[in-house]
Amino acid sequence: MTVSKKTQPNHAKPNQTDSYPVLESHLRSLKLPTMLSEYQQLAKRCSSSNATYEQYLEEMASTEIQKRDSNAITRRIKASKVPTMKELSDFDFGSIPSMNKAKVLELAKCAYIPNKTNVVLMGPPGVGKTHIAISLTLNACRQGYNARFFTAAEIVNTYREAREAKMIMRLEASLCRMHLIVIDELGYLPIDRAGAESLFGFFSRCYEQTSVIVTTNLPFAQWPSTFAGEERMTGALLDRLTHRLEALTISDKEESYRVKQSRKNNQKKS
Ligand code: ADP
Ligand code: MG
Repeated sequence: MTVSKKTQPNHAKPNQTDSYPVLESHLRSLKLPTMLSEYQQLAKRCSSSNATYEQYLEEMASTEIQKRDSNAITRRIKASKVPTMKELSDFDFGSIPSMNKAKVLELAKCAYIPNKTNVVLMGPPGVGKTHIAISLTLNACRQGYNARFFTAAEIVNTYREAREAKMIMRLEASLCRMHLIVIDELGYLPIDRAGAESLFGFFSRCYEQTSVIVTTNLPFAQWPSTFAGEERMTGALLDRLTHRLEALTISDKEESYRVKQSRKNNQKKS
């Protein structure tokens, strides 16, 4: 810390164990809990580096802001309901060569979110679609966006429950407040007509409002079969989803990462 000539305090051997009940009460009233817990330690540090009053105040404010930012990230990640923590740094792109690394790294910067662009990760099971979707969700939360992770079955159930409780408007309003919504594993389970209608409602409502990441094992041509054979509705849904789209298609020839890993491990053992 460089020391300016401005308001240089007279560092007259402060008693480090002193506490200041009035200051503490003010910090509590002003809802500055990190300043409250840190002010003595910071005073000690600033005093030993002959910092100015302003520098001490700046340190105090920075500490409070950093803690608030990190708390907000933790809150957003919790609220996103990601099923588990998966980081891009743990993704071995070398194992899944048809996963477009450059595109994933570009998406990790989150520019697609303010553009309301959607992302589809399409490919066989076990190639890391959910892993990438989770890590993009975490990145979004860290960059200040509100995100929500659903499996396809969960969003369909959420709609069904909201319809039964006559709360569809409220549900959709809360979904629209999200910057990013993930629908994981679309196509793994067949969806009945009511479910297809819910998903159609969902994509219509999110259109140009919220970015949606979809992971699926099905090419678009097979989507009507998943959506209760509803060709027209599926067409309209795809129209919205693909209007602004980043598509990541992982080759069907790609083998599951875990199968690959266990084969490697077995080879090592023998
Ligand atoms: P998918 O959604 O495509 O079926 P998942 O993302 O669920 O696949 O991946 C299955 C498991 O394998 C997860 O634990 C995931 O973290 C791991 N995995 C998949 N691909 C990779 C990879 N390339 N590098 C590291 N872990 C991977
Ligand atoms: Mg998956």
